[in-house]
Amino acid sequence: MPPHRFLRNQSLLTVCLLLIGGGLLVPGFPEPVPRCGPRVLPASAPVADEGRVIPGRSLVGRNLPQRFPFPEVNDWVERRLLTDHGAIFVAQGRVIHPPAVIFADAAGCAHWQAQVSTRLEHLGGIPVELQTEAMEALLAARREAAGKNLRITPRGTWAARRSYRDTEKIWSRRVVPGLAFWQRRGRLSAREAARIRGLAPARQVKEILMLEARGLFFSKDFSRSVLSSGSAPGASQHLSLLALDINEHGQEAVRAILARHGWFQTVVSDLPHFTYLGTTQARLPALGLRKTVKGKRVYWTLALLGERQLP
Ligand SMILES: [Zn+2]
Repeated sequence: MPPHRFLRNQSLLTVCLLLIGGGLLVPGFPEPVPRCGPRVLPASAPVADEGRVIPGRSLVGRNLPQRFPFPEVNDWVERRLLTDHGAIFVAQGRVIHPPAVIFADAAGCAHWQAQVSTRLEHLGGIPVELQTEAMEALLAARREAAGKNLRITPRGTWAARRSYRDTEKIWSRRVVPGLAFWQRRGRLSAREAARIRGLAPARQVKEILMLEARGLFFSKDFSRSVLSSGSAPGASQHLSLLALDINEHGQEAVRAILARHGWFQTVVSDLPHFTYLGTTQARLPALGLRKTVKGKRVYWTLALLGERQLP
């Protein structure tokens, strides 16, 4: 066995033992969830600043979950979704990452969600369900905000947990009006619009992104990508129970409090949307996250440039 592979195996064993040990020793640790099963991926250990560098892998590659099914080079739809919405896959702490960039169907998504340790709270009368650690961090952020006469409140009933069907509905709310709009503008034939409308939502994704490449955008006001205010069916961060939309996103002080508790903005131009990354801002670049400043806000997305398919 080559030395680097031996070292990597040893490192994996150590990380596994630490995770198991940590789960047994930490008081109040949530109900154990399967950590090595085929569908539930444990949070990867942050290796970027610990010197265990594996040659040929980028920062992103080194911090993605073990056995993460990295999209093929020619699978530009999945790679785009990973770039735009994939920050959750390097989230730290005791979180569980989704098994793939896109859940294939409603049943697979529901099965995965049922295995994840979650906590449900009613915040301002709205049920909010998140992975346990993400909820604990949110509650701590709300306490800090309250001490400064600030509020952090969920934005509607879809603010946190969503089902696969929810993501289909939200997708269709963008796609159906968008097809009609571009047809009225003469940019899309009635026949082509009807053909795309007739596809299952998951099969529309490639078609819609191809239209956007031609300048036919599908955001609410048809000026930006559909991915700037939502995701493809089965690919939303809200499915991972690590995302939350809030009302007070425009307040810099609120964003700073959330960041101190591990919550960051990770979808460029999706203003109300925050993602639990479970670490401090200073450590985000070492996880392979790229900083984008837009409209005085900071966003963190995966830096996939030059990434190759992982073994
Ligand atoms: Zn959101």
